[in-house]
Amino acid sequence: MSMKDAIQFDLIVVGGGPAGMMCAGRAAERGARVLLLEKNSMLGKKLSITGGGRCNVTNDISTVRELVARYGPGGKALFPAFSRFTPADAVNFFNERGLPTKVEAEGRVFPVSNDANDVVRVLGEYLRQGKVKVVLNAPVHKVVVYDDHVRVMWSLGEWRAAAVAVATGGLAYPETGSTGEGFDWLARLGHKIIRPDASLVPLRVKEPWIVGLSGLSLQNVRASVVVGDKKIESKTGKLLFTHFGLSGPLILNMSRTVGEALKKNSVDVVLDLFPKDNLSALDAELLRLFSSNQNKKIKNVAALFFPPKIGSLALNAAGLDPEKFVNLVTRDERLRLVKFAKAMRLAVSGLMGLDDAIVSSGGVAPSEVDFRTMRSKIRPNVYILGDALNFNRPSGGFSLQICWATGYLAGEAVLFDRP
Ligand SMILES: Cc1cc2nc3c(=O)[nH]c(=O)nc-3n(C[C@H](O)[C@H](O)[C@H](O)COP(=O)(O)OP(=O)(O)OC[C@H]3O[C@@H](n4cnc5c(N)ncnc54)[C@H](O)[C@@H]3O)c2cc1C
Repeated sequence: MSMKDAIQFDLIVVGGGPAGMMCAGRAAERGARVLLLEKNSMLGKKLSITGGGRCNVTNDISTVRELVARYGPGGKALFPAFSRFTPADAVNFFNERGLPTKVEAEGRVFPVSNDANDVVRVLGEYLRQGKVKVVLNAPVHKVVVYDDHVRVMWSLGEWRAAAVAVATGGLAYPETGSTGEGFDWLARLGHKIIRPDASLVPLRVKEPWIVGLSGLSLQNVRASVVVGDKKIESKTGKLLFTHFGLSGPLILNMSRTVGEALKKNSVDVVLDLFPKDNLSALDAELLRLFSSNQNKKIKNVAALFFPPKIGSLALNAAGLDPEKFVNLVTRDERLRLVKFAKAMRLAVSGLMGLDDAIVSSGGVAPSEVDFRTMRSKIRPNVYILGDALNFNRPSGGFSLQICWATGYLAGEAVLFDRP
């Protein structure tokens, strides 16, 4: 029996999430014989909990240019895929199959029914119409790729097909099934797998007066993450005060450490507003400023010394009357001001939510995939879809838009755009 005879399917899709279902459905709709393997006992387990159970299906952004810009610098790679399958195409896809949608704040598209299970159901119906063979409880443990066919193995045997689509998801929320095996297979084929980055998120702090500093940005601050009296990380850079706390590159880059520490302890961030000067040099500088402004009120001199808006906070923290004249300020009081400048302590109450996160999800480097067909540039009979690709994914329906577009394009390419 020749290898060709042994091939049972045109395409095997591994992973029954949104990307895999869309791919399998579209390939079948165009006449391919398709097998979909899912290790869970149901399809779309993660999909069914998206958007708080309501499923934010996509985002109502009108131009592809604006859309790709939302994925950060790496988003450009998505241009060919999103040009061929836009958010409007995603909306039409569901609307035409009996699922009306609505647009909410920030362009977020949801089913009118507010039920993510309806989205799963529409995709299930799409698979049935195309006569896709779906096997549940089928954990694939190995994929072997040859030039003209693939072998996909699971505990009860193996299947052969002309091509395979890896739609096994990323690494977030592994309890829904995305545990990263797909990355092992792809790495073995020579793909570069980018490890997921920590979420980069701003911090909330407990001090209510922080709101008064909102919008203030400081170019060169040293921030230390402190648990008890122990510094666990220190970095220098640009900091931004927000309504709720701290942001800016300096803080975003420390958010992982803070997040980890917060799981077990209370955490403070201590800011050194003058990282270039040590305590005594800074004290000498303040003393000089005091000498040349003896007859002024301390509030006016503090405003010269500290960054904007921080002077009055410092006086308050040092227990100093802002109306006091400089020549009456004691050495102790002056030192308290200097100490505040070198160690402004803020109690972290938590990380900002997913909406504010910049997440590099991890996955296959987009440069290794042809985004017109979703075919691997290393192995043309391998398609890589959805969360298996490394992109920054803002919240707002942007992750699922990647799944719909990449799934649909791969499904189209299987029979009609052969390598
Ligand atoms: C709580 C939460 C809420 C979210 N809300 C939204 C939202 O509202 N809007 C939005 O756009 N995005 C949202 N996302 C992101 C979105 O869910 C993902 O982008 C999307 O599910 C990725 O789809 P996928 O098909 O690539 O992978 P997945 O949905 O992860 O599906 C992969 C499938 O592959 C299966 N699989 C894995 N390995 C194997 C194997 N070895 N053998 C067989 N099967 C295997 C898994 O069981 C799984 O079913 C949310 C994510 C989470 C965690």
